[in-house]
Formats: sequence, C-alpha cells, structure tokens
Amino acid sequence: MNFIEALKLRSKLLFIFILIAVGLFFLGIMGTINLNSMKKNLDSLYFGSLVPVIELNSILQIYHSDLAHTIYRAKNSEITRSEVESKIQNSVNSINREWKKYESHFKRDKEFGYVEYTALEVNSTNQYFYKILKALSDGHNIKDISILSLEKKISHIHKVLNKLIAYEVGVAKYERKKFLEVYDSLLLEVSFILSIVIFGVMLISYYVFKSIQKDQTALEIATKRLKVANKKLENVSYTDSLTNLYNRRYFNLVYDRELKRAKRNHTHITFMMLDIDFFKQYNDTYGHIEGDFALKSVAKVLQDTLKRPGDFVFRLGGEEFGILLTETDESNSANLARDICDSVRGREIKHSASKANEFVTISIGVVCCIADEALNDEILLSRADEMLYKAKDSGRDRYNITTDISEAKTVKVKSEEKNVEVKSEKKKEFSA
Ligand code: GH3
Ligand code: MG
Ligand code: MG
Repeated sequence: MNFIEALKLRSKLLFIFILIAVGLFFLGIMGTINLNSMKKNLDSLYFGSLVPVIELNSILQIYHSDLAHTIYRAKNSEITRSEVESKIQNSVNSINREWKKYESHFKRDKEFGYVEYTALEVNSTNQYFYKILKALSDGHNIKDISILSLEKKISHIHKVLNKLIAYEVGVAKYERKKFLEVYDSLLLEVSFILSIVIFGVMLISYYVFKSIQKDQTALEIATKRLKVANKKLENVSYTDSLTNLYNRRYFNLVYDRELKRAKRNHTHITFMMLDIDFFKQYNDTYGHIEGDFALKSVAKVLQDTLKRPGDFVFRLGGEEFGILLTETDESNSANLARDICDSVRGREIKHSASKANEFVTISIGVVCCIADEALNDEILLSRADEMLYKAKDSGRDRYNITTDISEAKTVKVKSEEKNVEVKSEKKKEFSA
C-alpha cells in the first residue's frame, strides 16, 4: 500500500471517493443483472409453464361442457337442431384456436412427439364432431348419434389431454424447482460478491485512513517544530548577538506597548538612557576585543540588577543601553539607577584612561512619570537623553533623574541648560 502513502491528502480522499463510487456502481450492475435474471425466471415460471396448462384445460372443458353436453341436451330435445349445429361449429373453432395458442409456446425436444400425437388426436376428435355436423345437415336424426361412441371419443381425448396437462404441470414444477435453485445460488453469489466488495473497500479505506492519520501526525510534529523554530527565530531577531540583551528593534516594540499600557492604566513609567564613560579611550587603550568584553560585562551587570518581569534592558547601539521600568516610582527608579552605577563600578573593570574613575563607569539619564493620554511618546527619550548629558557634564559615573515631561519646559530646559541650572516649581531634577 506504498502508493497510497505517496498520495497527497486530497488525492487520498479522491481515491476513497472513487473507490466507493466504483463499488456502488459495481453493486448496482450486479443487482440489476440479478433482478433481470430473477424477473426472467418468474416470467418463465408463471407464464411460460402455467399458461399452456390453462389452455389445455380450457380445450378439455370445451369437449366436456360444450360439445358432449350439447349433444346430450339435443338428444333430450332440450335445444333445437340449429342451436346444436352452431354450438358444435363454435366449440370446434374454439378448440382449434386454443390448440394453436398452445402449440405456439416454447416446446422442449422430448415434448414434440407427444404434442404431435395429441394434435392428431385433437384433430381426429374434431373430425368426429364435424361428421356429426355433416350428418345433421344431411337430415339425419340427432337421436341416431351413438352415446357410446361419443363417450368413448370424449374419454379418449380426456386421457390424451390429461397426460399432456400432467406433463406440462411437471414441467412447471420442474421450472419452479430450477428457479428456486437458481435463486438460491444467485443469493449466495450476490452475498459472496457483496462481502468481497465491502471487505475490499473497508480494507483499502483502512489503509487510506491510516495513511491520512500518519500524515496528520507528521503535520502536527512539523507544525510544532516550526513553531519552536519560529520562536527561536523571533528571539534571535530581537536579541543583540554580542550582549544577549534585547536589541533596538525589540525596544521599539516594547516601548510602544508598555507606554500604551501605562497610559491606559495611569501608572508610572521610567526610561533610563545609559552610556559607558570614556569608552572610546577604553578601546584605544585595551583594544576592541577587550572593549567587547567590557560591553558584555556591563550588560551582565544590567541583567543581574534588573530581574522583575516588568523591567526591560536593551542595547540601543554602540555602548549605549536603555532600560524601561513599569510601575516604578521616582524614588525606586533613582535607587535602581544608583545601584546600576555602583554595580558597574563595583565590577572593577580596569580603565586607566578614564578621567571619572580607575574602573569602567557608566552615566545614566533617567525620566520617570505617571503616564496619561497627553504624554508625548518621544518626550521620554529626549528627556532621558538630556538627563544623560547632564550626568556626563556634571562629572560622569552618576545618574540624573527628572519627572518633568512637559514639552514646553523641555525646550526651555534645553536652551537654558547650556549655561545655567534651571529652577522651576514643577521641574524636579536630581543629580547624584
Ligand atoms: P563619553 O564618556 O562622553 O560617552 O565618551 P565616549 O568615549 O564613551 O564617547 P562615545 O560614547 O561617543 O563613544 C562611543 C565609543 O564606543 C565609540 C566606539 O569606539 C565605542 N564602541 C561603540 N560600539 C562598540 C562595540 O560594539 N564594541 C566596542 N569594543 N566598542 C564600541
Ligand atoms: Mg555613546
Ligand atoms: Mg560613552
């Protein structure tokens, strides 16, 4: 059944459909052939065999009831001469007609001899009645007819016809027996063929369905594998290969999603922009390979420090990182930023060219606010960037946090920060 396995699902179903259709067609043909044969047998049983018996009986009846009886009545002067003549004429005609009909039926070879003999006897009996008719027309008295010879004639033809009737009844019985035998064998034949066809269809269907089931299982396994592969691919497409942190592409996605959520729920949202201090000099001093190691170490510190499910760490590009915190207020965000600075410094990655510390350090710009519908999506980024440069300006290895997210003030802050610190009631910035 390898060829079934090789078929596609649609072809397999088509195959089953064709198989059932051919099976039904075959059964239909078988049924029709057998019904026709049964019909033929019924015809031969009832019409082919019994009709001749009826015809012979009818001839016998005419001899007895019409001819003999008419002559008896005439002898007793119950009917007139002309009535006798017409009655005899009509009866003989009827007998001839019935005999012709009887002869026209199918006859078996061994039957011919006896049928011919009976035909001669019928003819001779009819001649006898014609003679009576002639005698009557010649003026003879009806009473002269010998009852003895009449009875002899009738009794003889009765015997001859009865023998033929018995033969025809025998034939009918034989035909019926034959029919029943044929019917039984037909029944057996049809049941046998039906069983084979049903068994065949079931067997092939079983193979087809087993094969479909196998395909289905293979498809399910392939789908599962595909899902796993897709997940892996998705993870790869969202991961930075050097640090294993989320990349910029994933940041865009998460930033949008989390900002929308915070706006909907009016909860805190914190964004931190991180940049390694004097990293250019680090590369210049220790080389790019060492620089990559340092980047990985900083990434590891960030990952270890931020463990909540709502905290996300990204490598945004170069030696710049981004951190998104959900549902974290200003003081917690500030604590976390300080912890990050401490932890990076505490990692003690030697950086002899740094003017901030003997080890690698990091500067962070933090913006924290309660989100609402009016919050501009870009403002968090630009404010964090401003805070980062402020941290850099004020000596590096530190964080700078703001809760001010008003756009007008941002512009103002930007322009004023070039020279002086901005003092505002609503604006709240803290440098550590
Ligand atoms: P600052 O304290 O003002 O940030 O000074 P900086 O030298 O760190 O200045 P900046 O942030 O502009 O320097 C970026 C440097 O980071 C440039 C490049 O040599 C280095 N860098 C960026 N991406 C990578 C990287 O994937 N691997 C390595 N080894 N170095 C990188
Ligand atoms: Mg930089
Ligand atoms: Mg830098």
